[in-house]
Amino acid sequence: MNIVFMGTGTSHGVPVIGCDCRVCKSTDPKNNRTRCSCLVQVLGGNLVIDTPPEFRVQALRENLRRIDAVLFTHAHADHIFGLDDVRPFNELSGKSIHCYGNTQTLGILRQTFSYVFSPTQAGGGKPKLELVEVNGPFEAAGARIVPIPVWHGRVPVLGYRIGSFAYVTDCSRIPEESMRLLEGLHTLVLGVIRHEPHETHMNVEDGLSVVERLRPGKTFFTHITHRLDHETTNAALPDGVQLAYDGLQWDLV
Ligand SMILES: [Zn+2]
Ligand SMILES: [Zn+2]
Ligand SMILES: [Zn+2]
Repeated sequence: MNIVFMGTGTSHGVPVIGCDCRVCKSTDPKNNRTRCSCLVQVLGGNLVIDTPPEFRVQALRENLRRIDAVLFTHAHADHIFGLDDVRPFNELSGKSIHCYGNTQTLGILRQTFSYVFSPTQAGGGKPKLELVEVNGPFEAAGARIVPIPVWHGRVPVLGYRIGSFAYVTDCSRIPEESMRLLEGLHTLVLGVIRHEPHETHMNVEDGLSVVERLRPGKTFFTHITHRLDHETTNAALPDGVQLAYDGLQWDLV
């Protein structure tokens, strides 16, 4: 299994429009963060977690040619607004793409992308999608996927576990039952936005307490704001924990 961090930025992206802070003005490419998405390459194909506004740019950068399924964590704009850009993948495969999510997420996708799910004039290009509601473990691209229900403030969000890899972003609280689903991980990706507390996201301290409890082999923080400089933050994080960055690839043996 191979993981590619397509995007690692919080909802504004980094740099933030109109901001002159040190991180936004940094020349370190690792401080340049497009909105969050993750490509998980399994034996049976490619799974993409979320389709953010820069999805097209990310897919071009990574030379992505195939998507077998999209796993949606939730339907905030920064996680779904690139969905229309899966059209070339429909054309390449000749197939529709299964999109997985919880009831709330699929409801918002139907509303936000209503043109996809209603008849429109012939000739207009629309993505071919099949929405699949997640109510428990399921299989996509031959991989068994375990949904991990977590809370993003009051919004129910799904993390996903595939083998010994788990991806949990936009989360302020992981219920006890879900903590148990995250035991014995080789690699954990966790949404951690900054040092200061936040109502709907974990900060660095929250993230480290999850790591302390679960003790995954390796942890990457993602969904990062301009408040965290890549190099200085990484230097201060404990062994086995680091900030992800756009384009980072990680092999799970
Ligand atoms: Zn987000
Ligand atoms: Zn800034
Ligand atoms: Zn969100």
